[in-house]
Amino acid sequence: MSQAIIPILGAGESGIGAARLALRHGLSPWVSDRGVIAPNRVDELNALNIDFESGQHDVKRIVEAGKASGFVIKSPGIPDQTDLIRTLREASIEVISEIEFAARYARTADQQIVAITGANGKTTTTALVAAILQDAGCEVACVGNIGTSWARDLADREQPAQFQVVEVSSFQLDGATTFQPDIAILLNITPDHLDRYDNAIENYADSKWRITARQTENDVLILNADDALSMERWKRGNEGGTRARVVAISINQSPEALKNALDKEGLTPWGWAGVSAGTPHEKESFTIYIPTKNPFTMTIQELALQGKHNLYNSMAASVASRVLELRSEGIRESLAQFDAIEHRMEFVQEVNRIKFVNDSKATNVNSAWFALESIEGPIIWIAGGVDKGNDYTSLMHLVTSKVDHLICLGKNNKTLIDTFGDRVESTCEVATAQDAVQAAYDLGLPGCTVLLSPACASFDLFGSYEERGREFKAAVRSL
Ligand code: ADP
Repeated sequence: MSQAIIPILGAGESGIGAARLALRHGLSPWVSDRGVIAPNRVDELNALNIDFESGQHDVKRIVEAGKASGFVIKSPGIPDQTDLIRTLREASIEVISEIEFAARYARTADQQIVAITGANGKTTTTALVAAILQDAGCEVACVGNIGTSWARDLADREQPAQFQVVEVSSFQLDGATTFQPDIAILLNITPDHLDRYDNAIENYADSKWRITARQTENDVLILNADDALSMERWKRGNEGGTRARVVAISINQSPEALKNALDKEGLTPWGWAGVSAGTPHEKESFTIYIPTKNPFTMTIQELALQGKHNLYNSMAASVASRVLELRSEGIRESLAQFDAIEHRMEFVQEVNRIKFVNDSKATNVNSAWFALESIEGPIIWIAGGVDKGNDYTSLMHLVTSKVDHLICLGKNNKTLIDTFGDRVESTCEVATAQDAVQAAYDLGLPGCTVLLSPACASFDLFGSYEERGREFKAAVRSL
């Protein structure tokens, strides 16, 4: 009998990775993409002799193959609301994500899987956890949204890596049914991609919470105690809460105050971490308490990644590392030496005492909030692009107190200008990164910071946020 065909929808990194993994396990992948498949992907499929269709979905074939195999693998880029996905669901065919598919092949012995999700900070935290493990000499796969798909990594290795650090988006979690990370980090749940969730934050939160859906008492869930939606779900207890052991993190409270506050709420964390204010004799520091290890403390000043948002990321990464029993000394060293990731609060250059910072990856309001919050002194803010239904109210105070000039880098800047026009000294509209940098430079006074932190996606004027960031940096360097 011939092998069942596994339909894979979408020929991006996750689709091709899934196809490679299917092949590796003796299955027959078939890739279908409604768009035109990129030439390098076509070459890869041909080289592996993987059957595919480009520029169309043969719905009949997908449904028939899906019925025979029992499931279809869907790219995170395809919304659940499309007709094809509805048809598959109506035919009772399971639609899974590449993360779910990969998870089924990720354990052969005692591999440890650390999964990271959240609206913001995923890539940074994933990179931090992987760097700490690598520096400690462990075998690590750093995969998922951050770059190489998990499935591709598994397909290419002899054995799954001992430590697998996986960045997972909400779209990947939507199609996860058995995925059970040993350690899950949920950084925050703030509005993003609501266009894919019927404009309901509750639906988006449900999706994020799926990271812990299959976890048991043997697993650990690291939660942000300062994040209202995460806390609300933890409080649900047996009804939609979690079975994992929870480690709660706060940057607004000392560890003792946090523990007391949680006790009062009737919550029983397995571990907790908080920040102790500095004194004339001691610097501000964070401390982690988990029952299996001695307390871990690090002064905040020592962290390579500065800013409040990064403090969450560094604390979450340290908790995961402590749960994995890594040595304190090594964790501290890795966190102190970590290099900033491109396009995330990346310092570019100082020109005539004007600093330029590239935060092009800030594609939603919350990430721009943290960027504005973390910079001291006057800011010239470059923002705009494709607005995913942004509500800018939360930025009002920061903009009023810190931003001198707003430079709009987008096709439609009406909302930004209507919202902030009378809060800043000047606004202007530009259509290229070069013009934005030039305008900022002309306006800038010594001591100020020019911040590209758009709060919007880039697709109106640029191919991607990376392109936007690269063009910004090139323009700064040619000033
Ligand atoms: P993601 O992978 O979730 O998109 P990144 O690590 O790439 O997150 O960071 C995206 C942007 O969000 C950065 O530009 C940064 O300024 C901001 N950011 C990073 N970490 C956090 C956090 N923990 N909370 C809020 N914003 C953050």
